[in-house]
Amino acid sequence: MPQPSQRIQQIPFSPIRAMFRLADEMERAGRGPVIRFHVGDPDFPPPEAVIEATHRAMRDGRTHYPPSVGVHELRLALAKKVVERNAIAATVEHLTVTPGSTEALLAVMEVVLHPGDDILIPEIYWPNYVQQSLLASARPVFYPLGAGYQPDVEGTRRAVTPRTRAILINSPSNPTGAVIPEATLRALYDIARERDLWVISDEAYEDIVFDAKHVSPASFERDLPEKLRRVFSLYTFSKSYAMTGFRLGYIVAPTSETALILRKTQEPLVGSTASMIQWGGMAALADDAPIATMRAAYRRRRDLAVSLLRPPGLLDYTPEGAFYVLADVSSTGMTGDEFARALLEEERVAVAPASGFALVPEFGPDGIPRGEMTSSGAPEYPVNPKARDRVRIAFCVSDEELREGLTRMVRFAARRRPAAAAKG
Ligand code: PLP
Repeated sequence: MPQPSQRIQQIPFSPIRAMFRLADEMERAGRGPVIRFHVGDPDFPPPEAVIEATHRAMRDGRTHYPPSVGVHELRLALAKKVVERNAIAATVEHLTVTPGSTEALLAVMEVVLHPGDDILIPEIYWPNYVQQSLLASARPVFYPLGAGYQPDVEGTRRAVTPRTRAILINSPSNPTGAVIPEATLRALYDIARERDLWVISDEAYEDIVFDAKHVSPASFERDLPEKLRRVFSLYTFSKSYAMTGFRLGYIVAPTSETALILRKTQEPLVGSTASMIQWGGMAALADDAPIATMRAAYRRRRDLAVSLLRPPGLLDYTPEGAFYVLADVSSTGMTGDEFARALLEEERVAVAPASGFALVPEFGPDGIPRGEMTSSGAPEYPVNPKARDRVRIAFCVSDEELREGLTRMVRFAARRRPAAAAKG
């Protein structure tokens, strides 16, 4: 029988897939509702104006192929947004509309990575980065994170090799909620400039920042001549406007030339982004009030999580943005995987083990990943030890559910702790 490509066999699965399956099985077996902390999908509806505008667009006949780079009116509105809000020196020609920033990431990797190149990725990361680097035939190499999951600048500098082509920056971060301060972003940008790397800046959570400030690395090069710019900035409507199901994102390319190549990349990858959805997106951009309401809710939930998890020693930092926290379950003596399974079983609370956000594919001298595909459909890659005893909690449930689920989690951890202490 013909075999699937080696490339696709080597790609790991998303870590939340197993938790989805277990939670669904539990509910189907009639064991009661599960509190779902494992999925990062906002529990808010999209703004009403977006639904209206999307309907209207369909009735107005906006049901045909749109341009591969996006509807011109939306690109104009996005260029205005990134100039005003992100301080990026962009014009409409730098903008490409995409079906979500997931596809945008792959498109940018296809543009900048040669087969066998290294791409630097934070050592605890959104799993698609590794899946996509491998799809683009590149090698993910991990840069270290220090206290509060902040990039370790000197460690990052040491991770650059002659094969490194790009560095990926994700602030605010999924899965840690860390927001990278401007000085660190500048230091990472300086490494990219010194070593002539592309920068891929995933700013999916740009609007969900609490006490810190969101800074776009592309703003550092706004006064440079275009040919010296290197930052691709990636955004999405998914998180800011609770529009995950619409699939709408966009890329700001650093130069007109890279934007032109992106146009070519979009043709085979997606053709174009759904037309009526883009008109819906335009309505979202017209009103920032829903962003402020959701941000306030996420801040309240973050504060609640910190107040419940910190006293029993389940949290060792404060997330400044996004809607996640990485809890530290080391005091229970369990790995994150063991903790997640037992917590679901005993307390009907689903969290995502952090191991899936920290898999480390190994490569042979031929540059091909080493793992053998198992019956699960993916290789068993080693896990970065820093993530082994962590679990991710997403604040995408009501405040009441969050309080109830975290109270159960704290209770569960307290039950397990004496056993951990006895083991020594
Ligand atoms: N980047 C990060 C860090 C994410 O967490 C996500 C989604 O969870 C995305 C990008 C992609 O979002 P979308 O494809 O919905 O735009």
